[in-house]
Amino acid sequence: MDCRIVTIPGDGIGPEIVREACKVLDKVAQVYGHSFHYTEVLMGGCSIDAHGVPLTKEALETARQSDAVLLGAVGGNVGNSRWYDAAPDLRPEAGLLAIRKGLNLFANIRPAYLYHELADACPLKKEIIGDGFDLVIMRELTGGLYFGERHTKEVDGVLQATDTLTYNENEIRRIAVKAFDIARKRRNHVISVDKANVLDSSRLWRKVVEQVAEDYPDVKLEHMLVDNCAMQLVMNPGQFDVVLTENMFGDILSDEASMITGSIGMLSSASLNEGKFGMYEPSHGSAPDIAGKDIANPIATILSAAMMLRYSFDLDMEAEAIEVAVQRVLTEGWRTSDIMAEGCKKVGTAKMGDLIAAQIYL
Ligand code: NAD
Repeated sequence: MDCRIVTIPGDGIGPEIVREACKVLDKVAQVYGHSFHYTEVLMGGCSIDAHGVPLTKEALETARQSDAVLLGAVGGNVGNSRWYDAAPDLRPEAGLLAIRKGLNLFANIRPAYLYHELADACPLKKEIIGDGFDLVIMRELTGGLYFGERHTKEVDGVLQATDTLTYNENEIRRIAVKAFDIARKRRNHVISVDKANVLDSSRLWRKVVEQVAEDYPDVKLEHMLVDNCAMQLVMNPGQFDVVLTENMFGDILSDEASMITGSIGMLSSASLNEGKFGMYEPSHGSAPDIAGKDIANPIATILSAAMMLRYSFDLDMEAEAIEVAVQRVLTEGWRTSDIMAEGCKKVGTAKMGDLIAAQIYL
């Protein structure tokens, strides 16, 4: 397969971790006979330095013409960088919002997977962890409360603020279809999370999700109220496969789900459009405090590259090969400093990439 990948190393540790993800992708290409063609573009602080804006029209267009985007992270040290003297829409993170909007990336997927080897980092008790957990949060990213009309005004001498939560059935349908499609690549189970006992938008959400489910008789659908879901995630995370939810609920639940894995350097993510196109990035930021020291954990970015193979290119076997390689390296006791534990062997960013690439073979 021939794939055109736009890489956006970005700022801070971004270039170091994207380099390792490409190293692993190159090994996949070599072993499985694919060609990955990379085009690098600037976004974030480095683009501000070069062009005065966090994302140029040309960079966005280059991304649009590709098959998928692999992003490191953008942003600098907020309290100590000239990038933050500018207006909000000219700061590094504005590039992220612009590219998500420009590429119509409405579906955000964040997996939360507990590696047996890292179970000590999980804040949950051992009896709750049980055999571990492996779930994804499918969050709607471009609608709902964060994009609704809002205003603050004075009513009878008292300040009053209003935010509105709007979803139409098409917005719900397209994210539900994504969730069911992804469930078919996993364990065929969707739990749709809403607040249908209170909100009209949630009642419409539930109705449309049930309609979509009719086209997926092989996928089990359950509904869960968001407050219950927040509890269930820390009481019995093993019950979840795909959690489908709207923007604000997903924002909160995906952070909760990632925290129960205990390791920020391990968490991948994907944002998809209506088709196969997606942008893949680690869940963490640009970590300026450790940039350029060869100590960042590249695994979240490497696992994001695996998601790219699975969701944008349908290369499921190759994606799994990366995931298995990560697992083997952890089982052998190799660790970057953020996940270091007694009795393990500490390695830097580049060495971790080498070790994972070396574990990809037929
Ligand atoms: P952060 O995720 O960059 O760092 C939080 C802590 O985790 C730091 O101590 C950091 O050293 C550590 N860390 C993060 N990734 C790591 C890795 N791969 N290996 C080892 N340790 C890692 O969050 P922050 O410090 O709040 O933000 C730093 C910058 O990143 C800010 O400018 C912020 O706006 C930006 N940011 C960007 C994105 C993105 O590009 N998608 C997301 C979040 C934050």
